[in-house]
Amino acid sequence: MKSKDETEKVDLARRGIIKTMGVAATGMAVAGVTSAEAAEEQQSAGGETNPYGSPPGSGISMPPYYLPTPSVKNKNNYFPQSEPLGPDEMRIIFMGSNPWPPRMSQAGTCIMVEMGNGKRFFFDLGPGCLRNIIANQVPVPEINDIFLTHLHIDHFGDLPYLWQFAPFNGRWTPLRVIGPSGRTPELGTKAMCEHLKKMGAWTALFFTGMPMADGYEIEVAEFDYRDDGGVCYDKDGVKVTHWRRSHGADGASAYRLDWNGLSFVWTGDGKPDQLTAKYAKGVDVFVTEMAIDMVNLWALKQGVAPLMGAMTIDNYHTPHYAVGYLANLIQPRLAMACHVSYDRDLIGEMVAGVRTHYKGLFAFGVDHTVVNVTKDHVWIREAALPETTNTARPSLEWMIQNNFGGKLPAEISGKNPILANQEQAVRDLEIDPALFTPKDQMRQWARAASWGETFKISPAEMLGAPPAKK
Ligand SMILES: [Zn+2]
Ligand SMILES: [Zn+2]
Repeated sequence: MKSKDETEKVDLARRGIIKTMGVAATGMAVAGVTSAEAAEEQQSAGGETNPYGSPPGSGISMPPYYLPTPSVKNKNNYFPQSEPLGPDEMRIIFMGSNPWPPRMSQAGTCIMVEMGNGKRFFFDLGPGCLRNIIANQVPVPEINDIFLTHLHIDHFGDLPYLWQFAPFNGRWTPLRVIGPSGRTPELGTKAMCEHLKKMGAWTALFFTGMPMADGYEIEVAEFDYRDDGGVCYDKDGVKVTHWRRSHGADGASAYRLDWNGLSFVWTGDGKPDQLTAKYAKGVDVFVTEMAIDMVNLWALKQGVAPLMGAMTIDNYHTPHYAVGYLANLIQPRLAMACHVSYDRDLIGEMVAGVRTHYKGLFAFGVDHTVVNVTKDHVWIREAALPETTNTARPSLEWMIQNNFGGKLPAEISGKNPILANQEQAVRDLEIDPALFTPKDQMRQWARAASWGETFKISPAEMLGAPPAKK
């Protein structure tokens, strides 16, 4: 074992070399050391070679497979709905990437994976991510099949919001949520969804008795979190497996999706672990959380008690060095860090930490990052999204297929939710619309109260043009 003094001597000597090389690289004269000598010293020190073996003068170089996939129309930006995905292609879009605190540029963690067979999955649904999903022009009824890694609210905060409004936008079929069990039944995904429905009891009143009320049902596929390598989805050639993560409480899980020879891993939160190294081995796109060790900065900037900060990182998360360490064990085609406070002043340090152990292709997966993957190519861009937008409309075919089992009924009827849930007296106090509506804009009001106990609607009329003036 080296004594403390010897260690310091070694460190000082290393620092000396680095300092000399740094000055040489700027081209300034350094007594007795030419830049050629410095470069030679650098090579013999065993690092600082281009990891992809590019010839001299290549500048920043990337692996040979880092090229646009055939479906990519604009190499710089992804414009939603402008690129049909190739049949053998996967597209990954980061809809949110932030743990805490909320910030303008990052929503809560959510990763959308689209496959060339038309399937689309969501991994976690953190607060604020719906805004990005909708800006990406994903029709609301198609925001479904949500895989939750664990039940920290930064990973499912937008679930109640989606649950409330998706029926309004045409998803009258249940929400499908896949997630882990917990240490006890009341700590599992199923129990969380039951509580969500209780929390939303008031909001759900608005569609009680109507056909779209099925949209308030949640189909939960809860898997046993202990079943490492277990399959939680296996349909249409898509297989999703899961395994345990060490994140402070039983239940936290990671996912691997395999389809058509392509694969994707999202670790969710947790300490770097052997199970992840095992199950993620050789994956195409490996996405892990990253918690840069910034206990001192948290204390200075956010007032987080240093011990709280240290406990958080040391017990629950993957430090930036460990991101590189894990990626090196796994050897993916692309390693990505998500669930990361993307502080611009710290990006250099984060990458330096990753590069301590990993030399392969690395990128941050933060809001609007888009990754196209085929067997031959990987390409990363940023989605070009408008500041203001609206929901994409699902096709009528989708509505008929998914809400009416393929055949549009002549009539749908149900109980009048307003008569059942609101006293007449408060409606009697409403101001007569004739007092504020221009005469030529008066129509027969679609007042549910006037429908009586039940109502009848023609779905063909609902799916067609807006209601005609009468
Ligand atoms: Zn988290
Ligand atoms: Zn967490």
